[in-house]
Parts: sequence; structure tokens; C-alpha cells
Amino acid sequence: MFKAPIVEWPDLPEIKVRNTFGNRIEVFKPLKPGIVRMYTCGPTVYDYSHLGHARTYVAFDAIKRYLVLRGYNVIHVQNITDIDDKIINKANEQGVDWREIVDTYMKDYLEMLKKLRIKIDIHPRVTEHINDIIEFIQGLIEKGYAYVAPSGSVYFDVEKYDDYGALSGRFSPEEWRQEEDVLREKKHPYDFALWKAWKPGEPYWEAPWGKGRPGWHIECSVMSSKYLGPQFDIHGGGQDLIFPHHENERAQSEAYFGKKPWVKYWLHTGYLMISGEKMSKSLGNIVVFREAEKKWGAKTLRMWLLSAHYRAQIDYNDDALTQAQTNLKRIESAYKSLLHMLEAITPPGSLSEKETSVLQEVLRLYKEFHEYMSDDFNTAGALASILQLVRVINRDILTNEYFTAGIMAYKLLREFNAVFDVIEEKPLMPAEEEVNRLIELIVKVRSELRARKEYDLADWIRAELSRLGIKLLDYPGGKTVWRIEK
Ligand code: AMP
Ligand code: ZN
Repeated sequence: MFKAPIVEWPDLPEIKVRNTFGNRIEVFKPLKPGIVRMYTCGPTVYDYSHLGHARTYVAFDAIKRYLVLRGYNVIHVQNITDIDDKIINKANEQGVDWREIVDTYMKDYLEMLKKLRIKIDIHPRVTEHINDIIEFIQGLIEKGYAYVAPSGSVYFDVEKYDDYGALSGRFSPEEWRQEEDVLREKKHPYDFALWKAWKPGEPYWEAPWGKGRPGWHIECSVMSSKYLGPQFDIHGGGQDLIFPHHENERAQSEAYFGKKPWVKYWLHTGYLMISGEKMSKSLGNIVVFREAEKKWGAKTLRMWLLSAHYRAQIDYNDDALTQAQTNLKRIESAYKSLLHMLEAITPPGSLSEKETSVLQEVLRLYKEFHEYMSDDFNTAGALASILQLVRVINRDILTNEYFTAGIMAYKLLREFNAVFDVIEEKPLMPAEEEVNRLIELIVKVRSELRARKEYDLADWIRAELSRLGIKLLDYPGGKTVWRIEK
């Protein structure tokens, strides 16, 4: 009797995420079906991008890519902070215009993204949104959530917003280490600056309450809502941003729009560590991306960064990078051999019992890969499934030339690569351009044979090509033109 199905096809699991808000695992359901609106905090461009930045940006890139793989249309916004104390200080130290500092390091940051194959959809810059920021602050003043201090600085009145601290679980005024004069002019020590009044030697913009420049947090509330609306799905960044940055972003946005939640899912990456400490400029232990890329290459760096869960800490050391390099080579080599096999063999017309059990194993790994990725984007687990798949490819599929199991393994490798993007993919059949190059080569060889008066072989090539539908036209002077006749 005919038995079906011969293999068990997996259901793809629903996606779950750990929301920093409430620290709970939740089923992922975007506010608008099919569309995911995502905002991540980008860099302050005052120095070279380091591996800590790469850690966070690659993590969100993988999250975005997985959501795309699962059929969502993802819109990803990541800001560039191009005006800030750090930029002004650096410009003053070097005696150059602050815009020069921004130019240099923004280029470096964009170059890093390109190398790491990270595509951000919208990349707004603070200085291009000053009017929007002023209007937002004006709105907060009018709604009674912000006040203008005597200096002309504007502060958010934290006491007016009743949910402050709910995201970070922190509301500790003693953490607000600030200069005396700032403390004196605020109503409460934990009120934060929306607008910083101008000081001599600093760039400024005109605002209704006096000249100055935006505070840090306000830019993200303004630029996220400008492109994504007053409520959106994912807000991300490194764990260091939960407090005060994200707590403040949330307070001012919910106050302004009067809607809750401003953000449905808050996602935060674990730190990149080096010798037991967080990699950061202030600790003086950074490894600049440009240097690391020269040593390891961007693909190995991507592979290494995704070998840990995005919330976990990850350590920078040679052993971990070497391991990533080895894994990458194994996966790349399995992919190439598999592709070669699939192109070379004729698909069989049936499926043996032995191959069926290998196919079943591939499908089990397919399911496992998606289970890991759906479980709060666990790239570490997903990678382990793929390394097992590599074993199955090498041990069972290639040695036995199993076509059907091979096709499924190939599809799983491609899904893996849609997220990890570490192997150079080739289409299963050679591209037209490659075929054309091959024909050119054969025609050249034939011309050479004719030049050497080896007409028998030259004619044989001509006849064989003709059989394949490739016609050659020889012109006087030795020139040959070819065309495909169907
Ligand atoms: P910054 O240059 O401090 O403005 O940081 C830009 C982004 O990189 C933020 O999302 C930070 O949380 C993240 N980031 C900076 N250093 C690290 C690190 N060592 N590990 C993980 N993320 C980091
Ligand atoms: Zn931000």
C-alpha cells in the first residue's frame, strides 16, 4: 500500500522575543500585520567605529534579516548623532571645525556597515532634523512636560510623567552626576536636557527660547517617530542605553504623543568584552573595526559576532575568532561541494529508503534552525544546527550523491546565509554571463588552432558547437563571431 507522507515536513514556529520592558518572553506580533518598524540607536561620530559598535549593529542586522526571511516587510531606521559634546570637544582639541570630525568618522562608520553587509533603510542625521526637534520640544513645553530654565536650556520635567523608571527599573537621582550650575537650574536633579543653551565656542541653532543645540535623547524620539510613526514595533541598542537614554526617550515620546506603548518590543544587546571589561572608548580598550577587519576579514567577524546570542556578552580573543574562521571555512566548503554536486549529477527519478532517512535528518535540522531563530533570535543555537547540517552534507549527501536530500540541505544553507550572510552564493545554474565567457574562450582556442593550421580540430569544435546550437561565422582576416540559434 502507498504510504504518504514519506517525510515529516516541519511547521515553522511562531517568533518569540524577550522584551526588556517587563523582562518577559512575548510572542512577536507587530502593530500592523506584515510590517515591522524598527529603530536602533546609531553612533556618535567622533571617533573610529570599534568592534563594540559592530557587535550591536550586526546583531540587529541579523534580527532584521530573520524577520525578512519570515516574510515581514521590515523598515529599519538608525540615526547618526552628528552634534554632541564629544564631537565639539574633539574638534576643539584638534583645532578643526566640528563638521570635519563628523565627516571623517561618519565615512568610517558607513564603510564599516558596507563591509559588514549591513543595510540600513533610513539613516537620519540630527543636524538635518533641528526644526523637527524644536517643534517637538515646543510641544512638550506646551503640554506642561518641559520647562525653560533661566540659561535658555530646556528640561524634561520627570515628575510630570508618571511611568518614569518602568523600562530600566531604575530611578536613582544619585546617578545624575552633573555640573553644579546645571543641577542648580533644574527643578529636580534627574530632569534631563532637551535643549542645551549656547556656550561660547559651540555651534548653535536659533530656537524660540534662545540659541543652542539639542540634548542627546530628544533626537531619537523625533527621528524614530518622523519615519516610523508615534508607535512602532522594535527599539534596539546596546544594554548601556537602557538607562538613562531609552528611559528618557520613552518618557518624552509617551508624554508628547499621549500613547502607550510608544515601543512594543525593547531589545538590547549584550556587551562586547575584552579581557573581562566592556569594550569602550572611555576605558581605552577599543579594537578599531578597520584594524580587526584587516586581520580577520569582515565575514569572519560577522560569523564570530553571530556565534553568541545577541543578549549575551561576547569576548574578543584570538581563539574565538579562529574558531569562527574554521566554522566559516567548513560551511563555505560544504556549500561549494554541494552546489557542485547538484550541478553535476542528473536528478534521480526516485528516492531510496536510505536517502529518505537523510532527508528526514535535514528537515529535522531545518526545523531546529528555525526553532532557535524564533526563540528570541538565538543565532548561537542556529549556527550549531548548521554545523550539524555540514556533517550530514559531508558524511551522507556528498558521498552518496543524494540529490533530493542535497536540494533540501542547499535550501537550508541559503536560509542560514540569508541571516548570517557569510558565504558568497552562486546561482545553482551558471549565469548567462559565465556561459558567454566560456563560449568566448572556446572560440578563442579554435581561432588559435586555425592560426596554427590545425584545421581538423578547429572544424570539430565548430561542428560540436553547432550541435549545441552555437553557430560560428568566420570572417576574412581570422575574426570569428558567434551566435546562439535556437
Ligand atoms: P556609542 O558610540 O556609545 O554612541 O554607541 C553606539 C551603539 O553601539 C550603541 O547602541 C551602543 O550601545 C553600542 N555599543 C558601544 N559599545 C559597545 C560594546 N562594547 N558592546 C556592545 N554594544 C556597544
Ligand atoms: Zn537613541
